Amino acid sequence: MPKKRTQQHNCPECGTPAKEPYKTWELVAPFPDKKMRITVTIFGMYECPKCGKKFRGVVSKAKLGSEGIEL
Ligand SMILES: [Zn+2]
Repeated sequence: MPKKRTQQHNCPECGTPAKEPYKTWELVAPFPDKKMRITVTIFGMYECPKCGKKFRGVVSKAKLGSEGIEL
């Protein structure tokens, strides 16, 4: 079972941690890495609850390969 890792996304302006992203999207790497795995990165848009600053952060990354999924 893959381990779950909680990532903090702090506001670049004031450092307040944002909660859930209000928007997420996936970015699939067009080329596989050396181990022939495709990296899928999930980005999220966060909004600071304190100052309202919107910023982008990486929600999670996944690697898809012949040996299955690696988080
Ligand atoms: Zn802020």
